[in-house]
Amino acid sequence: MKTFKRNFITLAGICVALLISGCGEGNEQGNEEESEGVHVTTSFSILGDMIEQVVGDRGQVDYIVPIGEEPHEYEPVPSDFRNVSDSDVFYVNGMGLEEWLEKVVDNASDTPVVTVSEGITEIPLEGEEAPDPHAWLSPKNASYYIENIVTDLSERDPDGEDEYRANAEAYLEEIKELDQWIEEKVQDVPEDKRTIVISENAFKYFGEDYGFETEGIWEINSHEEGTSGQINRLIDIIQEKDLPALFVESTVDQRYMETVSDNSGVDIAGEVFTDAVGEEGSGAETYIDMIKHNAETFVNGLSGTN
Ligand SMILES: [Zn+2]
Repeated sequence: MKTFKRNFITLAGICVALLISGCGEGNEQGNEEESEGVHVTTSFSILGDMIEQVVGDRGQVDYIVPIGEEPHEYEPVPSDFRNVSDSDVFYVNGMGLEEWLEKVVDNASDTPVVTVSEGITEIPLEGEEAPDPHAWLSPKNASYYIENIVTDLSERDPDGEDEYRANAEAYLEEIKELDQWIEEKVQDVPEDKRTIVISENAFKYFGEDYGFETEGIWEINSHEEGTSGQINRLIDIIQEKDLPALFVESTVDQRYMETVSDNSGVDIAGEVFTDAVGEEGSGAETYIDMIKHNAETFVNGLSGTN
């Protein structure tokens, strides 16, 4: 479980403020009325950042799956159960992303679970009825997440509503600018090169919104295989479309895409972020920066300006 630095500071500030009345273990419940804001836990770092932008200084946001790991098949540990139990609410993506959700719910007392992707038009996994869960990869879906988050936070902490709404509005403004920037940027890619080749076929929402086809070695990480049949299928597509670039995610075993690259003669043009924000120093530590990085990487790779 990771906690955002700013919230450590905020929490420390609250502790100092409450020191006289006693702030620390065992006092949490007694001080509930005095402490402002909410304690939210969420499943993975990308939602963690979105929620953090809305909560601002008013509360604490934690996430479970560490950066660098993917959230599909994570194995929750006892401290995760404890952390969710200690939270006011547990926000999840849903759409089948958190396959380990039941384990947390079974082990984490009565903390309410809220699905913050509610309202998004689902795109099914190839050949299945189940939705692809990676809706966040298109910033056009961010407004659903943000609205669900703000609505729930405001119900839980009505005194904070104005603050949450103001934070959300400013954040959505930034996301709108990001969306417009991507719309313009993708025009640099020749139309017949607008195909994103990646290990996990996670960019369907992005592809639909910005006019790209998407092809993965495998469909979703929870089915991850990387068989020679899957690899050969992809190589055929790459050669047929004469694509200039391949991409690989920060959270997968990159050897499969390296095999595709070696056998197709097409370079991996860059690493993109799908299931986690970037590590400290990556330049993709936030949702906005990771989406921007992804779009830039696709455009540079596929327009040959890499
Ligand atoms: Zn994924």
